Amino acid sequence: MAASKTKTNTDELGFRESVELMFNRAASYMDLSPALIEKIRVCNATYIVRFGVKLRGEIKTFVGYRSVHSEHREPVKGGIRYSSHVNQDEVEALAALMTYKCALVEVPFGGSKGGLCINPKDWEPDELERITRRFTFELSRRDLIHPSLNVPAPDMGTSAREMSWMADEYRRLHNDNIDAMACVTGKPVHLGGIEGRVEATGRGVQYALREFFRHADDVKAAGLRGDLEDKIVIVQGLGNVGFHAAKFLSEEDGAKIVAVIEREGVVRNPDGIDIEKLKAHLNDRQPLKEYREAEFDEDGRAALTEKCDILIPAALEGQINLNNAHKIRAKLIIEAANGPVTAKADKILRDRGITVIPDMYANAGGVTVSYFEWVKNISHIRFGRMQRRAEEAKNRHLIEALESEGVKFSDEFRAEYLDGADELDLVRAGLDDTMRLAYQNIRQALIDKPELEDLRTAAFYVAIKDIALHYDSIGL
Ligand code: GLU
Repeated sequence: MAASKTKTNTDELGFRESVELMFNRAASYMDLSPALIEKIRVCNATYIVRFGVKLRGEIKTFVGYRSVHSEHREPVKGGIRYSSHVNQDEVEALAALMTYKCALVEVPFGGSKGGLCINPKDWEPDELERITRRFTFELSRRDLIHPSLNVPAPDMGTSAREMSWMADEYRRLHNDNIDAMACVTGKPVHLGGIEGRVEATGRGVQYALREFFRHADDVKAAGLRGDLEDKIVIVQGLGNVGFHAAKFLSEEDGAKIVAVIEREGVVRNPDGIDIEKLKAHLNDRQPLKEYREAEFDEDGRAALTEKCDILIPAALEGQINLNNAHKIRAKLIIEAANGPVTAKADKILRDRGITVIPDMYANAGGVTVSYFEWVKNISHIRFGRMQRRAEEAKNRHLIEALESEGVKFSDEFRAEYLDGADELDLVRAGLDDTMRLAYQNIRQALIDKPELEDLRTAAFYVAIKDIALHYDSIGL
């Protein structure tokens, strides 16, 4: 995880208030009763647990959170982050974003989020396992991890490893539940996970950008032209999301990643950075400044305001704020992280005509593929298992029939056409479809109601409308 810590500006709102301000802006354009708006906005409950684990000869106490923002649909969904900065305000803001994110991309879940106040680097893997298992036990006692009620996933500081521990602990506690493994998503594939979940959020950022660039009017409004080819990109954060987004955009779409900002500083290369190589360097625990194929500067924050076509904040919240919003020189910002732009900075960017593709849409790829994983878990069968060979046989009949009539196909076409979709193909196709449709819904809202003004407000509008409709149908 990257990002330089920002100096707090006292005029800035807290994270939860910031999300609420953005919510209120969209809600003010809607014809909903104030009581319903309030019901949708408020966080239903936050559970705080303090638990002890005996480690290194003494009892260490840890503080954990699980916040449930909205249960209008269940299970509620959202990651669990491990970070020493975790606090109630942050977890509640993130849980709210999960509610709107799921509604926007039509993933049938409510919103939740969790966190454990811990610096994972302070602990050995076997210690982290014990802490995680104990946290899982505490959550399970209150149904805050449960296949049909509350399904965590990885977030900052957690990965498939922690999800394995959680799933296994839950399965031990509930070994008569045939759906126990659906209690968390983001598991390794060999433990009930799904192909494509690790790359999903970064892949979603790529699909979101591809869809944006399919709409020439939107591209023009951002002061850009053409497609992603040769676009100058700056990425903040080379964690799971930033890494995959940067890798796919540079390797598959021809975008040029000219700067990568991490906690220790920035590396720049105007010819483009080889993302795989840089990641391998960092994975080897080598300092950023020793990466030889780019120029290092310890002032990472300054790089956020450098001229570029696309800025991808993929680290912490609040990185674009009252201190730097007026200096941003990117034409387009795509929020791969949750909440990287504060509400006040958002207004400055809007007034300056900088297009922002909002977090609740841009990083929805993770929860979308989590949804596919959960469906896979409760149906107990891998996607494509029944259809793949049948599809291939049908295609072969067609090709052979046409060939017997003298039609010729290239070897490449033949191979591609005959290759039935496997789980990864299906996951990517489902994610692509989800990202395209959600963007189209956002831009349609903006066309129908130009007063919404920007993509974020329009995204909130679409999400709130969906939730309001849901409440309306159930008579609340
Ligand atoms: N933590 C991710 C997010 O913020 C994924 C959540 C999930 O898959 O449930 O969207």
